[in-house]
Amino acid sequence: MPSPTPRVHLSQGNSTASTDSGFLLAPLPSNLSRFDPSLAELAAHFGDEWNCNLENPEWLAQAVKLLRELKMVDAGVIPPWFRTQAYCENCGEVLVDGALPPRVAGCPWCKSDKPPRPVQ
Ligand SMILES: [Zn+2]
Repeated sequence: MPSPTPRVHLSQGNSTASTDSGFLLAPLPSNLSRFDPSLAELAAHFGDEWNCNLENPEWLAQAVKLLRELKMVDAGVIPPWFRTQAYCENCGEVLVDGALPPRVAGCPWCKSDKPPRPVQ
């Protein structure tokens, strides 16, 4: 039996996760492509979870999105999908993914030592 191949297409800083019916995750704009994780970074970050989900495009899309987010926040760059203002009990007013509630005990920025910069 052949080993599963991830349905994440990675080319020079351009990650997409696709299904037969279409793309689940859009490529990053070229000015942000340096934040796209490599397959090696994804495998290292998610470990066994990564290996178990290689044939699950929805999970792969979320994994790529999360790692993009971590890399951007680490660099102090606000991911373009952070469009919702929330109040973090640790950081104050912050921009976050709209999936978070308006008041949170912790946010992605808590771990970053860089002040957030808007995307250029
Ligand atoms: Zn925070």
